[in-house]
Amino acid sequence: MSADVNPDLRPRRLADLRDAMGRADLDGLLVSSLPNIRYLTGFSGSNALLLVTALECVLLTDFRYEAQVADEVRGGATIRIEPTNLWAGLWPTIAGTAGVERVGFESAHLLHRDFARLLEQGSRWQWRPTADLVETLRAVKDADEVARIERAVGMAERALQRTLKQIHPGLTETAVAGVLERCLRDEGSEAFPFPSIVASGPRSALPHARAADRVLQTGDFVLLDFGAVADGYCSDITRTVILGPPSDEQRDVYEIVREANVRASGAVRVGLRGMAADAVARDYIADRGYGDAFGHSLGHGIGLEVHEAPRLARSVEAPLAAGMVVTIEPGIYRPGWGGVRIEDDVLITETGGRVLSHFPRHLLEIA
Ligand code: ZN
Ligand code: ZN
Repeated sequence: MSADVNPDLRPRRLADLRDAMGRADLDGLLVSSLPNIRYLTGFSGSNALLLVTALECVLLTDFRYEAQVADEVRGGATIRIEPTNLWAGLWPTIAGTAGVERVGFESAHLLHRDFARLLEQGSRWQWRPTADLVETLRAVKDADEVARIERAVGMAERALQRTLKQIHPGLTETAVAGVLERCLRDEGSEAFPFPSIVASGPRSALPHARAADRVLQTGDFVLLDFGAVADGYCSDITRTVILGPPSDEQRDVYEIVREANVRASGAVRVGLRGMAADAVARDYIADRGYGDAFGHSLGHGIGLEVHEAPRLARSVEAPLAAGMVVTIEPGIYRPGWGGVRIEDDVLITETGGRVLSHFPRHLLEIA
């Protein structure tokens, strides 16, 4: 499998985007989000602008990518290599496209500095802010994307398996993160979707702790939250293990989180609102007396980015659709004591959720 978008899928993605542009009354869309550009064209470089109109799809990048862009895009867009800066090439590109007046820009992905360019050098066009036109398409994965995510999940799980055999009291969290990231690379992960979280003892109560110099001790929870990247697509998994035998309290808290994960993973299906999915785990945790200790939302979509649409959260009314891949990651965090999170990656299908991550959910005693 190549590292770019399956070429057969790009016309469909562009057609869907043009439908969305039509509904938004736009003649063109300036795409400045690199993951959105990758989704639409296959180009994975770090500097690009994409102009999509009813008939044209023009990708602007710079000379560093001259060979790569042709290889990745393979006719999926008209390529322009800009010698100075991409914006200088944008104006003649739009001017050369007939019938374009109202052009959308991605309000979440444009620096104010660049917005000012639209109003100054681009003043002959009407610029309209848009939100999530491409992200909405990306939320629903095709089979090719699901296969890439599944491969990223497999890499992460095998890396975790190997890492757990090497964890013992006396190591620092950063040393554990080093082992984990080495194993992720050995399994073929092409990048890290985010800096791996390894949080031990009381630090496991920090939901987004970075690995630090704390030394692991017997009796610690060790929370590992990490992922792999396969052909551009991310996985995102958390397991919490314990060094030595757990206390009754540790076991009780762990079991509540595990049950919340099982219930939510089993409940997600086509049509369920994000808020309702979140409530399955949240209500269970609250009923067991830890409502205040689950302070983040239940989950998020994964794909080309590790956090993308949809969100599973209290405020989200949008229903789940077949083909979405979401994380389910309930947690309980008690400051000064520790925390537990168990995170799996789940594909939404017509018949329910299919959990893509198969790593055991029960409490693993290490060392
Ligand atoms: Zn995670
Ligand atoms: Zn996550």
